[in-house]
Amino acid sequence: MMSVLATCLGYPRIGFERELKKALESFWSKKTSAADLQQCAAGLRRRHWSLMKQAGIDHIPVGDFSLYDQVLDTAVMVGAIPARYRAIKDPLVRYFAMARGLQESGEGMDVPALEMTKWFDTNYHYIVPELASKQTFALNASKLLGEIDEAETTGGGLRPVLLGPVTFLLLSKMEQGKTKGLTPLAFLDQLIPMYEQLLALLAEKGIQWVQIDEPCLTLELDDQAKAAYRTALTRLAACPGRPRLLLASYFGALEDNLPLAAGSGFDALHVDLVRAPDQLDAVLGALPATMHVSLGLVDGRNIWRTDLDAAHATIRKAVEMIGPDRVMVAPSCSLLHVPVDLAGEQKLGSTMKSWLAFAAQKLNEVRVLADAAGSLTPSGQPFLDSRAARANRLASPMVRNSHVGERMRGITEALFRRTSPFPARAERQRARFRLPLFPTTTIGSFPQTGAVRSARATWRAGTLPVPDYDKFLKEETRACIAKQEAIGLDVLVHGEFERNDMVEYFGEQLDGFAFTENGWVQSYGSRCVKPPVIFGDVSRPCAMTVEWSTYAQTLTKRPVKGMLTGPVTILQWSFVRDDQPRQDTCLQIALALREEVVDLEQAGIKMIQVDEPAIREGLPLRRREWKDYLRWAVDAFKLATSGVRDDTQVHTHMCYSEFGDILEAIAEMDADVISIETSRSRMELLGDFVRYQYPNEIGPGVYDIHSPRVPTKEEMADLLISAGKVLPATRLWVNPDCGLKTRGWPEVQAALRNMVEAARVARRQF
Ligand code: GLN
Ligand code: ZN
Repeated sequence: MMSVLATCLGYPRIGFERELKKALESFWSKKTSAADLQQCAAGLRRRHWSLMKQAGIDHIPVGDFSLYDQVLDTAVMVGAIPARYRAIKDPLVRYFAMARGLQESGEGMDVPALEMTKWFDTNYHYIVPELASKQTFALNASKLLGEIDEAETTGGGLRPVLLGPVTFLLLSKMEQGKTKGLTPLAFLDQLIPMYEQLLALLAEKGIQWVQIDEPCLTLELDDQAKAAYRTALTRLAACPGRPRLLLASYFGALEDNLPLAAGSGFDALHVDLVRAPDQLDAVLGALPATMHVSLGLVDGRNIWRTDLDAAHATIRKAVEMIGPDRVMVAPSCSLLHVPVDLAGEQKLGSTMKSWLAFAAQKLNEVRVLADAAGSLTPSGQPFLDSRAARANRLASPMVRNSHVGERMRGITEALFRRTSPFPARAERQRARFRLPLFPTTTIGSFPQTGAVRSARATWRAGTLPVPDYDKFLKEETRACIAKQEAIGLDVLVHGEFERNDMVEYFGEQLDGFAFTENGWVQSYGSRCVKPPVIFGDVSRPCAMTVEWSTYAQTLTKRPVKGMLTGPVTILQWSFVRDDQPRQDTCLQIALALREEVVDLEQAGIKMIQVDEPAIREGLPLRRREWKDYLRWAVDAFKLATSGVRDDTQVHTHMCYSEFGDILEAIAEMDADVISIETSRSRMELLGDFVRYQYPNEIGPGVYDIHSPRVPTKEEMADLLISAGKVLPATRLWVNPDCGLKTRGWPEVQAALRNMVEAARVARRQF
């Protein structure tokens, strides 16, 4: 009897109807009680466990559920609670204070949140644990143990999920100041006993398997991190009476960390064979006879239906090499990163739906694959369906557009270059625009007020007729232009009132994109995103923004910037097709945008901004792969923007504050003007641009748009003057850090008036 196990590494926790989001937000706004929130959470857990049980999952994850974030849960579990939160007595209030800050006017409580950052190369964000120089730990396993008790009623093979100690420390940071060169890894010896105690408690509960997530095993590790792994894994493996341990790696290949993982003394190793299929042979070859392999074959990062035949072939290979009893089938990583259930999609169409699998469907795929492990030629219905869907998708005219193929083949070197190099262009642009020194502008969006959002909602619902909606948007745009003129800005924008989201807006107008109704994925805490699905060749049936930009331009003599989202950002914030390289999809998007850029120019728009806020987050996890990625990312931007005349000014915008290691690529993008976020790092990062001698024009953000605070003219003038001392004043622009859509009009007007004043002050100095 074959006994390949069907397993799961983690399940989405937001709920099919985003129940968790709603429960969290109503608790935070004090509309409901903590008990209500806990009840909702418990209901979701119960539902997810029984779903997995029904799907026939043999190893059901427990403890992966979180009210906010699993890394924060781990910090709380090991007692890594920074001193400033310890005065908060209620554990739940303290937990959310760490996650999102706490401001209680009555009690004089005002603590900011811990830092938050991207979880590897996903769009999920985790809370960064903060350790003190005299950090001690104390185990509080109540959350995990409580959930195990709850789950016991489900009666499945429960597999608690722990974030492993080394990844936990590698993701942590030291508190500010007085830490004397200590790094979090220095606390490994104190941290390991928490895990040892926990394993003993889990053994007492009769737990058979524990999953220890160590995604950092897929990164390039220095010697210190490797040594930490050796210590941690050996010590955990040596725990007396412990449950069996599965070491979970995901998001990439183990590569030179394979010996560490295989030599860990653990009972199973999970590998990501979606991201890194080529590692299978090496993994099977390295596995000691005592170790199981967990084959991550169902994509936990994307929404496509699994090619069951290909996955089956991989399982057969493993079974033949090491025997069925040592093989498990699994998703490539936790299913946290995919939407909950395809069954809720009514509008996608049956063809499209037959190509997709969300979390619920992926569980079934895992089970089917495990069941078929003993068969050489599986022929059950699920395999027949998978084959049919695959054949249909491969041959579908929805996917391939010969016109796009032709254009892709027609791409030549010349399409990546502007006519003249920057200095010549700059001269022509100066002559054309005659802008003052320190020209002032904004990043694109202006406040999306309640009125704007509700007009959009009624238009979407069909209750606001299209001409009325149009009229409303034009009125908003007109008022926005008038306000910008009154403030005295030099270069204007139309305000982006017609856009809900900077990717969705374009995706909806491009061919090759589909939209789900309920394909929500957690981004952080209660925040969810609904990425578009890029399923086919991308093309642009009609102009997308020309009408808005030209309308705005008719209202003013000052230049109005056209406003587009860049190809890498559109790619990065979508679910991307898996039947061609990502870079090909990116170039297709770039070709479509190129047409838009050229159309804007022809319609009389003189400056065009192509936002690329996501270029940095697309960087591969391993540095070795950066160069290749940056090559095609830069190429895509250039392809999109190089079709215009020398005197048309191309802008770009990026909102992050780490540039040092990718500045060369940013310079190669060759935008005439780049606006960047700097105000939060007090313009320190301009240093990078100075060191690199960034050649083109640059607008360092002079105020933080993330806060309603109105910056003074003096502080912004100071920033500009200090920028003018390190970079040529003739190449500096004045703008906020990012778009203003989340702000209110009064503060925006006040802040921009001060900004314009600050530019005047700076002009007098140079
Ligand atoms: N033009 C966009 C806006 O102003 C840019 C947003 C972004 O950088 N994320 O909203
Ligand atoms: Zn931005």
